Amino acid sequence: MFPSIRSYLAFSYTLVVLLVIAALGLGIQLLVERNLRANLDADLVARARQVEEFILSDPDADLSRQVEQLTTATGLGGQEADTTYLRVYIANGFPLPGPVLPVQEATPQQLQRLPPFSVGTWLTEDGTSFRLLTRRVVYNDQLIAYFQVMRSLEPIERITSRLRTTLAAGGLLAAVVAGATAYALAYQALKPFSAIVDDTRQIGADRLDLRLPMSYGVDEVSRLAYSFNSLLDRLQKAFELQRRFVADASHELRTPLTTIRGNVDVLLLDPALDEETREALQQVSGESARMSRLVTNLLLLARADSGQQAPSPHPVDLHGLVLETVRQARSMSSTVSVSLVREDQVMVSGDSDQLKQVLLNLLENALKYTPDGGRVTVSVYAEGTWAKLEVRDTGIGIAPEDQQRIFDRFYRAEGRRHDAGGSGLGLSIANWVVSAHGGRLAVESVPGVGSIFTVWLPLRSAVSNQALTPP
Ligand code: ADP
Repeated sequence: MFPSIRSYLAFSYTLVVLLVIAALGLGIQLLVERNLRANLDADLVARARQVEEFILSDPDADLSRQVEQLTTATGLGGQEADTTYLRVYIANGFPLPGPVLPVQEATPQQLQRLPPFSVGTWLTEDGTSFRLLTRRVVYNDQLIAYFQVMRSLEPIERITSRLRTTLAAGGLLAAVVAGATAYALAYQALKPFSAIVDDTRQIGADRLDLRLPMSYGVDEVSRLAYSFNSLLDRLQKAFELQRRFVADASHELRTPLTTIRGNVDVLLLDPALDEETREALQQVSGESARMSRLVTNLLLLARADSGQQAPSPHPVDLHGLVLETVRQARSMSSTVSVSLVREDQVMVSGDSDQLKQVLLNLLENALKYTPDGGRVTVSVYAEGTWAKLEVRDTGIGIAPEDQQRIFDRFYRAEGRRHDAGGSGLGLSIANWVVSAHGGRLAVESVPGVGSIFTVWLPLRSAVSNQALTPP
């Protein structure tokens, strides 16, 4: 869901800060509102007491005049938002005439139903809320009046709304700052991990001798680098053991195989052999030749892995090498034609035996996977600073999903495992040799149409300008 730990941390921090601020804001808001309302109620009660005392100070006086005096003396009425209004009702529940007030008059029945002292909230038609206190005034067990004091809740609502806006804006700002800070901190904290990832990328199966630096500035990362290096030590030892085993086994197998082949070939010279024995001996000879090739290839790859087989930088006449191999290939098949279509004199630098092996592997494959009557064409020419060698065939082709894998060791395309001979090592050897010479081996193929294997090698004249990147 998250593309990186940094964004995950930034998002989590932002969310936590938002939640904390929202909870805190809600708490503050409720507290402030409750306090303001409690103050307002206390004020209404104090006002009510004042009004009641005034009325009771002269219970027989004219109530209307008393109200007038009360309004001017105590500042009840007026236009300000925090004004406390007063409305007085005579004992039968009818209101005394006075200024029009925002809260509707109560009916006598409503007044009678109310308890002697009640406080409530009233919503006017224009949407303003009022706090309303209704009081029954009794003198000598005789009801002499009702009165109501009321005050708008609008100032409280204004304060709480401003508080809400301020808290929301502050909360958002805090969340953004927290998110950005978390992102920056995570970035800083994870930087050594990015460095370790970059360093690890340099270490491939062919460079197991490389190690990570031990100083990443952060203890945890340095410990990780240490563990990684120990793992590499073990891996390198295991690789080395395996490589040595393959090399030793191949080496040990070579001599008996040569002896078998030699003896079988001598036996085959006997003209008195019956047909069955001859066939069996020919089979033994063919299989031991195949095994010999396999062993040679394995030995070559084992040496390549150990870095012992690096090519010696001798001048190699690639054109001459192509002529030689094409000639050899022609003798291998009478049903598939092999021709040279373009030939330039090109010189490269390297090991001519290894390069010849590449050419042979490519040509053998082209012949092996091209049906009778097909054609194999070879071109060798210079292109810029590169020598380019192409082996085209009109064979069975290679499926797109196999094209990337045919250079892997022992990989053979599905369906070819048991026919056509071969071990799946030819192309990986060719690929290794070409790379070791600073070049590149590529394939283009259309199943049922044919394949083109292209080898790029740096021209000898260009080799001195080091660090050429193959096309
Ligand atoms: P192999 O000994 O099987 O030929 P290689 O490493 O030379 O081993 O080739 C690997 C696989 O690539 C082969 O098994 C085959 O499937 C495929 N391949 C190689 N060259 C060709 C080609 N010219 N045409 C079709 N398939 C090919």
